[in-house]
Amino acid sequence: MSAVLVVNSGSSSFKYQLIDMDTETELASGLVERIGEPVGHSRHNAGPTKADRSERDLPIVDHTAGFAVMIEAFSQHGPQLSDASLIAVGHRVVQGGNRFFEPTEITHLVELNIEDLSEIAPLHNPGAVQGIRAARASFPNVPHVAVFDTAFHQTLPPAAYTYAIDKDLATRYRVRKYGFHGTSHKFVSEAVATFLDRPLADLKTIVLHLGNGASACAVDGGRSIDTSMGMTPLQGLVMGTRSGDIDPAVIFHLRRRAGMNTAELDDLLNRRGGMLALAGNGDMRDVEDASIAGDPVAQAALDVYFHRLKGYVGSYYAQLGGADVIVFTAGVGENSPIVRAGSLAGLEGMGIEIDPVRNEAKSRKSRVISTDASKVTVLVIPTNEELEIARQTLATINRTHPSN
Ligand code: ADP
Repeated sequence: MSAVLVVNSGSSSFKYQLIDMDTETELASGLVERIGEPVGHSRHNAGPTKADRSERDLPIVDHTAGFAVMIEAFSQHGPQLSDASLIAVGHRVVQGGNRFFEPTEITHLVELNIEDLSEIAPLHNPGAVQGIRAARASFPNVPHVAVFDTAFHQTLPPAAYTYAIDKDLATRYRVRKYGFHGTSHKFVSEAVATFLDRPLADLKTIVLHLGNGASACAVDGGRSIDTSMGMTPLQGLVMGTRSGDIDPAVIFHLRRRAGMNTAELDDLLNRRGGMLALAGNGDMRDVEDASIAGDPVAQAALDVYFHRLKGYVGSYYAQLGGADVIVFTAGVGENSPIVRAGSLAGLEGMGIEIDPVRNEAKSRKSRVISTDASKVTVLVIPTNEELEIARQTLATINRTHPSN
């Protein structure tokens, strides 16, 4: 057996998953959170059932202490890391800037570069660097690979990634669209080709990754040509707590008239925006339940969500010069027939026609939800970012350590 440990680290928590690469199945997963708080928390799933779960509350001073807690959980509850023959650790890194366009084995220099990119990703990269340092100290004998959320979008043409502002300023401060969720957009667009048994190179696909964070991506022959998130994950679709697109002048207006400062505006748009602002709840299930119960506020919030999403579908249909496939993924995309139907309603003239029975059918599998007559095939495909990170980690070490 050979296994890859996938780590997704934030500033006060990290999630992990151990994946058997021979079968591409999950062996164990867990979460260490509230790092640095008086009482931290860890949860370890040594297998797929509730009985396999173990939890602890204890002070966890830093990420290194967090990895010690994780290693102890593996040794107490299994699977034994030695039996799993850990061959590498793959790290999710949100921002790779225009420096990292592929998964990269982590050296001290790579670590410094990821840290330097904190300037344009202050909410995300510092936590990743803390996780990487602690994981490298905890597992010094295996290679560590950074897999970047932005990497898949390095194929964006300048016309798609350039903002129409002063060019020198944009260059100096690295202001451009980078795009995010790349690991998921890549995994899902490739899974579309496999599912339909068609060459990836022939497919024009619009991927709608709708979770708490949400983004759309136009994929032409396996290459990302446009995506809705921007220099940061704030741009684009309406999300759980992020506003997505607004007129940037709203910020000047609120500074002047409401006297809001940068931190307050950041909070307003990143943490108090989106469905939370419109419906009083950032969780799509609750918004849908309220709307079904007849709450007009929840319905109005959903209408804004659908309107924005439909706009991006139309935009990417145009950018791609037509689409073969529209695919829904992530928590909302995989589970919400209401969102899928609402966001594609009225697009029959573009050859997009959802079959209501197929759309309502509950399943965890990849499936077609369009009618047989629909010119554009509409799919639901579950994403698996951890598996994609593990695959890319393995491919990277096979390239750099061919003897493994
Ligand atoms: P994250 O961006 O945190 O990875 P997920 O992809 O897990 O998010 O998606 C979380 C979102 O999916 C939440 O808003 C949740 O309400 C929504 N969701 C999960 N199941 C359903 C469902 N059955 N119907 C509607 N929304 C759902």
